[in-house]
Amino acid sequence: MLVLFDIDGTILKSQHAGVQAMLDAFHQLHPDRRFSFDGIDIAGRLDTLIYGEMADRHGVPADAESHEVFRHTYSGHLERRLAERNTVVCLDGVAELVQRLAKEPGVELGLLTGNYPATGRLKVKHAGLDPDLFKVNAFAMDGVTRRDLPPVALQRYQQRHGSPLDPARAIIIGDTPKDVDCALHNGCRVLGVATGEFTAEQLLACGAHHVVDKLSPVEPVLEWLLTHREARR
Ligand SMILES: [Mg+2]
Repeated sequence: MLVLFDIDGTILKSQHAGVQAMLDAFHQLHPDRRFSFDGIDIAGRLDTLIYGEMADRHGVPADAESHEVFRHTYSGHLERRLAERNTVVCLDGVAELVQRLAKEPGVELGLLTGNYPATGRLKVKHAGLDPDLFKVNAFAMDGVTRRDLPPVALQRYQQRHGSPLDPARAIIIGDTPKDVDCALHNGCRVLGVATGEFTAEQLLACGAHHVVDKLSPVEPVLEWLLTHREARR
């Protein structure tokens, strides 16, 4: 069984440190322009898409090389911001849930997130979790949209374990309708958690198999997750 955690709004809240660091990067690279995220859909979206939309709106190049320079610059600013004043808050129950799951036989942990790898891992680290606990990951560059990410995680699971995993035994934990959609689209299970911008009712209405207000208390969440451990292969 594979448990895939979204990062922002699910594992942690970074109090806009990510968005601010992206703005820092845009302003450093293009000091003659003023950048704004106003009207740009961020929640649950891939950083690659957010970059593309920002580049389009502000008339800056979106080719692979420019994107790579941006990614590197953003990473530096995020690291600096988090080192200066770590505003990352690990959400209730997450640390305990991750620790408990990591000890369960037959359970693999992963990240399925719109973050870039370096900045995603940096946020997780600043939330007080060891990013290396998450062995099977899918990040922003692994697809064009979030729907592309679960198959990548399943493929990496297969590479690591030598046998395929039934998508129904992959559970995505996320806080946005896009997390729910990417799971359902790929035949995965999905646990909605109403710790981001969306309510439990909204996540249920999108088709989440189960929804909790937060991941604490851990016991019932763990119990629900582990019912899928012994499912058919
Ligand atoms: Mg999220």
